[in-house]
Amino acid sequence: MMILVLLLLSVTLVTGVTPVSVIIVGAGMSGISAAKQLQDAGIHDFLILEATNRIGGRIHKTQFGGHAIEKGANWLHGVGGLEKNPMFEIAKTIKLKNYYSDFSNVSLNTYKQEGGLYPKEEVETALSKAESNEKFGTEFAKTLTDNKLVDDDMSLLAVERLNHMEPKTPLERMIDFYSFDGEQAEAPRVTSLKHILPRPEFTLYGEGEYFVADERGFEGIVHEIVKTRLAYKDGRVIDARLYYNKVLLLSVDLVNGLFKSVSLFISQFRKIRNSILNISRRE
Ligand SMILES: Cc1cc2nc3c(=O)[nH]c(=O)nc-3n(C[C@H](O)[C@H](O)[C@H](O)COP(=O)(O)OP(=O)(O)OC[C@H]3O[C@@H](n4cnc5c(N)ncnc54)[C@H](O)[C@@H]3O)c2cc1C
Repeated sequence: MMILVLLLLSVTLVTGVTPVSVIIVGAGMSGISAAKQLQDAGIHDFLILEATNRIGGRIHKTQFGGHAIEKGANWLHGVGGLEKNPMFEIAKTIKLKNYYSDFSNVSLNTYKQEGGLYPKEEVETALSKAESNEKFGTEFAKTLTDNKLVDDDMSLLAVERLNHMEPKTPLERMIDFYSFDGEQAEAPRVTSLKHILPRPEFTLYGEGEYFVADERGFEGIVHEIVKTRLAYKDGRVIDARLYYNKVLLLSVDLVNGLFKSVSLFISQFRKIRNSILNISRRE
């Protein structure tokens, strides 16, 4: 997950626009969800700075052969458990087309670099290693403290080595890639065990997985969240609080491992002092 930075500013933002309490960096699902929470809580004086000219971040469709296909998120993970998955509920509300798809056919559809299919049994063996690593890691994570700030963590790669199942062959590494790198947007050697296992989407919402195949794209969910809360027209947020093509550059001085001072530079804004910084850790 992208680091979402909420800056609670104790000073007036000298921008030529109304002072704000909160700046949200990034209009991906996290940023949009933060805006929704603020709006629903009656806090309306926020800004969203988005580096690109669109919302959705890694939820992003494109056109291929005359149809919308996903460049990023495609599966609604975690359905059918005791708690309702809010994303799945929105998908139902807007009738976003989706199909049950739990990866069980992967062993029949895995291709070699040089062409041709891998034998089913070979893929199943590699898959069972990845599953073993996830199971081992999930159990191991229970021995670590729940306090995410206490540093008793380890990388997923360390877990794989402890489990004597470090992926080695191209097939094992490919399955490791889609099991972990693809899900976490970072490699097992830098992925924190206790922040990702057990996987909360499944423990909270159930084991079901659904593949979105809809011309509106997975991003239809993001747009549904935003369109009743921010000014919105013709499929685009036109709210004055959302700045497209604005990149936040943050410089932080670290002394003895602590934040000493934070300077915030935004191209059109002046330097701001005395801000309170609240950074959510990668989950
Ligand atoms: C190929 C792929 C497949 C995936 N498949 C799935 C899936 O099937 N199911 C699933 O649930 N998840 C999937 N994911 C993960 C999912 O897309 C992400 O977890 C989720 O979209 C992250 O949302 P976010 O808002 O935290 O971050 P992002 O979507 O990365 O949003 C961050 C936003 O911040 C902006 N930004 C970044 N830096 C700055 C800056 N300095 N200043 C201003 N703006 C900035 C970016 O432009 C972006 O819009 C997949 C991801 C990828 C890449």
